[in-house]
Amino acid sequence: MVNSKPRPADNVTNGLYNQDILTVRQFTPELVDYVFGVADEMRTLVERFGSADLLQGKIMANLFYEPSTRTSSSFMAAMQRLGGQVIPINSVKYSSVSKGESLADTVRTLECYADVIVLRHYEVGAAAEAAHWASKPIINAGDGVGEHPTQALLDAYTIQRELGRMENLTVGMLGDLRFGRTVHSLTRLLLNRDVTFRFVSPRLLRMPEEIRDEVTNAGDTFTEHRDVMEIIDEVDVLYVTRVQKERFTDLADYERVKDIYVITPEVLANAKEKMVVMHPLPRVGEIAYEVDQDPRAAYFRQMQNGVFTRMALLAAVLGRA
Ligand code: ASP
Repeated sequence: MVNSKPRPADNVTNGLYNQDILTVRQFTPELVDYVFGVADEMRTLVERFGSADLLQGKIMANLFYEPSTRTSSSFMAAMQRLGGQVIPINSVKYSSVSKGESLADTVRTLECYADVIVLRHYEVGAAAEAAHWASKPIINAGDGVGEHPTQALLDAYTIQRELGRMENLTVGMLGDLRFGRTVHSLTRLLLNRDVTFRFVSPRLLRMPEEIRDEVTNAGDTFTEHRDVMEIIDEVDVLYVTRVQKERFTDLADYERVKDIYVITPEVLANAKEKMVVMHPLPRVGEIAYEVDQDPRAAYFRQMQNGVFTRMALLAAVLGRA
C-alpha cells in the first residue's frame, strides 16, 4: 500500500506529493536530504516571519486514537504556520469511533473534508490499512509498537544538526526497545550509514528480532547491554526512551523494569564532551531534571525540530514544497 496514490508525471516534491507516509523504509538517503533541506527553509521562515500562506486553503485532519501532546500539537502548529486549517480529533471517544465506526469509514469520512489525514492508532499496520481505504494521503503518527516515521525523521534531523552528520556514529538506544516505536523507526532510518548500534535494555525489553535482523542484513553492527555504563563513554548519541506502560499485559512486569535506568549528571560525567542525549518525550523519570542544563541534552531542541520537519513533510505531501 506504500506509494499507492496517483502521482503527477512531473514528480514534484521529490515523489512525496500525494503519497502516504507509513514507514521510514520509504525514505531513501536522497529523500531524507530533501526533507532536511526543506525543514531548514521552514526554520528560517518561522524565525523570520512566524508563518506563511503556503498551505492556505488546505485542511489537515488530525485523527488520534492514542494520547499525544507533541506529535498532535506539532502537526497542528506545522499546518497552521503554513496557513492551513486543522480538524482536530484528539479524543476519539467523542467521535463516531465510540459508536463503533470502523477505521475505514472514519478515514473515508474525513477525506471528504480534509486534504491529508494524520493518524495515530494503537494497532500495528493501522496507518497502512487507512491508506488502503483513503485516496488522500495518510501520515502515520505512530501505529502501536510499529513505527513512528515522522519522529524518526525529526530525530535524524536533530542528529544531523547537533553533530553535523548522521553517518559513522555510535548510537546508544536505551530503555524500552521492545515496545518503543520511535527506536524501531530510527534504527531503520540509520541503516546503511556506518552506524554502530548499542542496544541497552533489560532482557524483557530487547530490541525485536526483526529489527536486529535488519541491522545485520544491512551489514551494520549492534551489541546488546544491560548496563548503560558499558557504553556511555563511546556513544555519539544516547537515545533514551520511556518504558511503555500502556503496552504491558502484566503490570507486575512493568513494575519490575520501570525504574531500571535513570540518566543523571553522574552518568553523563563519563560521556564524550561532544555527544547528544535525546528522548522522544514524554519522560517519566528516566532522565533526571538536572541533566536539562547540560548542553548535550538535546531533547527540547529535538522537539522544536519536530515542527520544522512536519512543516516540510506537509508541504511536500500537499505539493507545495
Ligand atoms: N511520544 C513517543 C511515541 O508516541 C514516545 C513515547 O510515547 O514514549 O511513541
